[in-house]
Amino acid sequence: MSVAEKTQSQKAIDLENKYGAHNYHPLPVVLNRGEGVYVWDVEGKKYYDFLSAYSAVNQGHCHPKIVNAMNEQAKTLTLTSRAFHNDMLGKYEKFAAEYFNFDKILPMNTGAEAVETALKLCRKWAYEVKGIKENEAEIVVCENNFHGRTTTIISFSNDPVARKNFGPYTDGFIKIEYDNLAALKETLENNANIAGFLVEPIQGEAGVYVPSEGFLSGAKALCEKHNVLFIADEVQTGIARTGRLLATCGNCSCPQKDCSGTPDVKPDVLILGKALSGGAYPVSAVLANNDIMNVIQPGTHGSTFGGNPIAAAVAMAALEVVTEESLAENADRLGKIFRSEIDAFIQTSSIATLVRGRGLLNAIVINDSEESDTAWNICMRLRDNGLLAKPTHGNIIRFAPPLVMNEVQLKECVSIIIKTLKEFE
Ligand SMILES: *Cc1c(COP(=O)(O)O)cnc(C)c1O
Repeated sequence: MSVAEKTQSQKAIDLENKYGAHNYHPLPVVLNRGEGVYVWDVEGKKYYDFLSAYSAVNQGHCHPKIVNAMNEQAKTLTLTSRAFHNDMLGKYEKFAAEYFNFDKILPMNTGAEAVETALKLCRKWAYEVKGIKENEAEIVVCENNFHGRTTTIISFSNDPVARKNFGPYTDGFIKIEYDNLAALKETLENNANIAGFLVEPIQGEAGVYVPSEGFLSGAKALCEKHNVLFIADEVQTGIARTGRLLATCGNCSCPQKDCSGTPDVKPDVLILGKALSGGAYPVSAVLANNDIMNVIQPGTHGSTFGGNPIAAAVAMAALEVVTEESLAENADRLGKIFRSEIDAFIQTSSIATLVRGRGLLNAIVINDSEESDTAWNICMRLRDNGLLAKPTHGNIIRFAPPLVMNEVQLKECVSIIIKTLKEFE
């Protein structure tokens, strides 16, 4: 193809390849507009978004209420830094603390920053409240975790690509198998220096691994017994994604009344990001009660942009949308339909072997090796058929549409997915 004939999409991709660092391998589609559950590419083709920016766009693309809150605040005051007070931060802190039922919130920007904040909070609590000798605290984490990309966080990742040649690594972490209560019990019993247990209530990046019934509540009970902080990374699972306000969902102002099926667990430290802003702006947070959060004193931690007025306005609007539009209930209901329809197809299929998930965080496992490119090719064909999803770990495809989807749209998506999978039988 000559330069003159290049599509708009190809031109945009070429620019990224030439001038951008190659730290991602995106599906070749170039988007320039989004609304609700839909996105459009630069050629004008419309797609269902089945990734939602890794669950940041739970409230749907360009939600008018969130965009309006952002625009209004952008015209008024954008940033003061924390050197001065502003009239939005306290309002947001009260709103979010009450919404999630914690005494206090510590606002940050990205998910990885919030995880770092939680780790620092946990260590400081360990030395100043629990009484562990300085520099000896350990934090238990799970194998195949994903908590972000900072030097410390990748230190306890076991993804070789995320780690290799980024050492030396940060000490003070003990890795145990996910969903293994006995391993946690043994670790806590044999080490008096454990300060916290950091866990994803469902491992999203690893391939949407849902732990066994009783794992989270059992882990919380063990943490209580050993005076260890239960730290839930709900950056991906939180804010209605899994059919409840939080996947750990303990004692919060959850709009969903019937929480039967999964045990209630109230984390000591809750980490949020992604959908906290509905995808409009980088907003993350750590929430905890005073007995923990009060170890943070002036000068001990901070961020120039953390808790800025735009973030405060955007996050309040984004959380209001979750309640007003009953997104948790919707995710719960549509997720059940999704899994049951895909499961019925899988009974007859040789290409797909399993569907799993909670709410609208689901994955389909493709019947091929992790090294094969079948899942990638299926995602390319899904794209051609008008639906965008991405493989996670070779042979697993994650399906996580915006939670503002309706049943008619979901059923159309299920038929696109089944039709596409059939093309690979
Ligand atoms: C995405 C994610 C993060 C990191 O968030 P960033 O905003 O990309 O830094 C941390 N934890 C989990 C569970 C995530 O899904």
